[in-house]
Amino acid sequence: MDISTLSKQLNIPVQQLRFKMNAAGFRISPKANKIDNQIAKQVLAAFSQKPRTETIVKNKDISLPKVLTVKELAAILGMEVTTVIKQLIQNGVMATINEEIDYDTAAIVASDLGFNVSETVESSTRLGLGYVEEVLKAEMASNPLDFVTRASVVAIMGHVDHGKTTLLDTIRKTKVVETEAGRITQHIGAYQIAKNNKQITFLDTPGHEAFAAMRARGANVTDIIVLVVAADDGVKPQTIEVINRAKITETPLIVAVNKIDRPDANIERVKKELGEYGVLIEEWGGRVPLANISASTGQGVEELLDLILLQAEVLDLKANPKGQTLGTVIESHVSKTLGPVATVLVQNGTLNLGESVAVGRAFGKVRAMIDAKGHRVKNAGPSTPVQITGFSDSPDAGDILKTYQTPDEAKIAASAVLKSERAKKFQTTSKLSVEGKDLNLIFKVDVAGSLEAINEALDKLKNTEVKLNIIDQGVGEINDNDILRAEAANAVVVGFHTKLSPQAAKLSQSKQVTVRLYDIIYELIEDLTRQIVEMMTPEVVRTDLGRAKILAVFRTEKERMIVGGTVVEGKIKVPALVQIKRGDQIMGPGEILELQQNKTKTREVLAGFEFGISVRTDVKIEAGDTLIIFEESIKKKSL
Ligand code: GDP
Repeated sequence: MDISTLSKQLNIPVQQLRFKMNAAGFRISPKANKIDNQIAKQVLAAFSQKPRTETIVKNKDISLPKVLTVKELAAILGMEVTTVIKQLIQNGVMATINEEIDYDTAAIVASDLGFNVSETVESSTRLGLGYVEEVLKAEMASNPLDFVTRASVVAIMGHVDHGKTTLLDTIRKTKVVETEAGRITQHIGAYQIAKNNKQITFLDTPGHEAFAAMRARGANVTDIIVLVVAADDGVKPQTIEVINRAKITETPLIVAVNKIDRPDANIERVKKELGEYGVLIEEWGGRVPLANISASTGQGVEELLDLILLQAEVLDLKANPKGQTLGTVIESHVSKTLGPVATVLVQNGTLNLGESVAVGRAFGKVRAMIDAKGHRVKNAGPSTPVQITGFSDSPDAGDILKTYQTPDEAKIAASAVLKSERAKKFQTTSKLSVEGKDLNLIFKVDVAGSLEAINEALDKLKNTEVKLNIIDQGVGEINDNDILRAEAANAVVVGFHTKLSPQAAKLSQSKQVTVRLYDIIYELIEDLTRQIVEMMTPEVVRTDLGRAKILAVFRTEKERMIVGGTVVEGKIKVPALVQIKRGDQIMGPGEILELQQNKTKTREVLAGFEFGISVRTDVKIEAGDTLIIFEESIKKKSL
């Protein structure tokens, strides 16, 4: 059925209907104008209620997100906002129209109004790992003929000072500026060149920070990695890091042995060292192509580009310019004049000026697009990097951009991400102290000797419950890279006799990465010990308080009941836990949320008296059930 037909039948505007359907868990693809008849029937059933009726509906199934505003709740329920506010007040919650309420509160109000409530399964977290691949796979299955060859996306990586920036500049100068005399090139985080009528897109982000940020989001946009190794210096720690990364992400490598113009260049040594790390070059029977280059003189660079084109051909890279538009943020910043600016690498579909987009928690309309040559462009197809303005907020590198039919849909998608992130942050903070069994650490110290001392002390902290994972250890100031790595690994950065660079300090705040600095090893160890103890499962001591008999059930909601009874033995109090028994059978646990005696709230009720309670439980309590009331106290373990 057409959505517009449905909209007419329900007398709900199309946009609002899409919103309501999404909110109520009827997932529809943003571009779809038709929906399955079966679903249409369900939508009709769910939404055919007249918005202005104030009567209580019976047993209508709805699903609610973790957090929503009062206005959104009213929209989902199809009721007047005032009705919802009235119901909130009756439950003791004072909330205004735009205020956010949590699921529990919304669920109580909705069930008071006669709905059967369940929690929406969040599909609206940040699009991440594998999303683009999934869409491409699905489109390839349905519209293979729409697919065309796209430019390969190449990252130039390698150890510091081995010549990455010089190589990126040389390629750009010979291939871009040459053809665009007089034009000032824009550094937007990526650029595209053409050779033999074939395009290559280079990620122009020297240093690994941007990649670390993208990795933290699970994004991988790189088709080919060019590993730059200086011929006078050989394989170094970051060279090895790139080799490992290529292995993990299964990204093909091309080696560029650089600085061959230098008198102390030793190409054969580089090849040998690479072999020791499992990089087998073609010359030696392996699969990895290699070019000898001088990034500063330009020698060998054309051959390197040829190797890239060859590799791209082997990879047979394709995308669908007519498909769902998706891209990944390579870089972003906030401009004083333009607001949030982001460079997006389009990966599928075609991004057009004026389109509504959502990317991470940001949304907006594509106001302006420029390419790496500084040209204003109206559209951008697969593998094209473009700098975009028009966002509500600054997206993060690695965030995936998606287009929507209407600004409202984009806004809803972005705010869903924001909300689910807020809810998730809430969960992870509380989870860390209870369930987190891995303590991930990154150490930065003044001299290598300090690491030995720390490692020796860490040995003493080994225990069976909390695993200490040393993600990285190094010498020097704590920098951006450490923070991004910590974010990716959910680690704490520990500095000993070292400093935090001002930029890293800022980044640690925005990424909410914990950094601890120490000058005395004893304090460092003491703090770590405290943290480990905190993470250990504490011992729970149970104290029985009393027993009660249930006489009546007043209200049954999902996970919450209001029941009345009489205390048989001891006392009932709040807060307290209960075990629900039916005869000899244990039905399950519950938690007392509120206690009343003679319709007034109270802290405890003694044996022989009647009470009313609100109890959180999965058990459907019945009259005649017994409640065993108890308290639990927590005793910390020690190391
Ligand atoms: P990055 O840290 O990997 O980006 O390295 P840079 O591109 O900044 O290069 C580090 C230093 O090596 C600079 O002083 C460059 O001028 C120099 N360099 C880069 N490529 C070459 C080369 O091919 N030959 C020579 N002799 N020097 C080079």
